[in-house]
Amino acid sequence: MERERRMQQCSHEEGNPRARQASTPVLLTRWLERLGGRRTAYAIQRADGRYRCVHAPLTPTLLAAHLAGRLTLGHYVLDEQDCCCYAVVDADQLDGLQRLVALQQVLAAQGIPTSLEASRRGGHLWLWLAQPTPAIQVRAWLRPLCSPNLELYPKQDTASGYGSLIRLPLGVHRRSGRRYPFLVADGSQRLHPVGGNVYTQLSWWLEQPAAVLPAHLDSVAQTRPEARLPTPPVHAQASYSSPHARATLPARTSPILAWCLARDPLAVIGRYVLLDQHGRGRCPFGWHHHNGQDRHPSFKVFPHTPAGNCWYCYTWGRGGSLFDFFRLLWQVDARTAWQRLQHGGER
Ligand SMILES: [Zn+2]
Repeated sequence: MERERRMQQCSHEEGNPRARQASTPVLLTRWLERLGGRRTAYAIQRADGRYRCVHAPLTPTLLAAHLAGRLTLGHYVLDEQDCCCYAVVDADQLDGLQRLVALQQVLAAQGIPTSLEASRRGGHLWLWLAQPTPAIQVRAWLRPLCSPNLELYPKQDTASGYGSLIRLPLGVHRRSGRRYPFLVADGSQRLHPVGGNVYTQLSWWLEQPAAVLPAHLDSVAQTRPEARLPTPPVHAQASYSSPHARATLPARTSPILAWCLARDPLAVIGRYVLLDQHGRGRCPFGWHHHNGQDRHPSFKVFPHTPAGNCWYCYTWGRGGSLFDFFRLLWQVDARTAWQRLQHGGER
């Protein structure tokens, strides 16, 4: 019965000339751009409400199918550099919507615009960001504003794998068979659905202004990634032409350190980063560079120090070992990186 209703709803939407007319590729492309996040994977919601990951790019065609109700998409919030283009506060208690309305008012008082979406058990409060922003900054900003029973997406500062996903608005929830609208409050603070078909609602949502990250949070990402490096940063003056070209092994050598020291950093990293004759190149770790790219070569590779360090980013002010290089490059945890390297993943 529920399935029948869903089918009727879908065919109604697809047969609606206004919906078709509004289904412009421009709108869907704009949505895709505004979502940002992981471009190489998405998820499809199953009938039980859980998700199946698809290792393929999200496309405007898939977004159109989502709006038409033919499938329901989950979106991976974080991109490959652990940045996101939106944040969502999820409340799935009975009074979830009221909690989110209260939070929406607190944020609005601080000049932070949000969009409220109903959900199966409560609601989602969406917040657009003006540009891809490190999740660590977004979380440092918004987490203190959310009470403990509200869930903030992105859920992680850095993703191991693809990180968490969220169901995209305006589609059909596979478990309830229902769509949930965006809501706006009237003069007496009563909530009403944003009118029109899903395309009209999408246009409304995409027109909502983006929030601006407070300036003091710019430094957050500069300090925290240090914790991701298992070895201390190398000395800033280390040079590729340094006389101690061959490092000696410390008395107790870990397998990872031994693996690092057995390899030529210039040759190995040189397969991933274009290096000049001084071992300098553009830093492959975009998240600590303006707009996610190192425009002036700030990355330098040099012979191993005894601790195994062999590269340094002058913009970041940090460096690490060959192992750190791959862990950061692949954006995986230490265990996964080591497993891959043991199977020749560096080649
Ligand atoms: Zn860098």
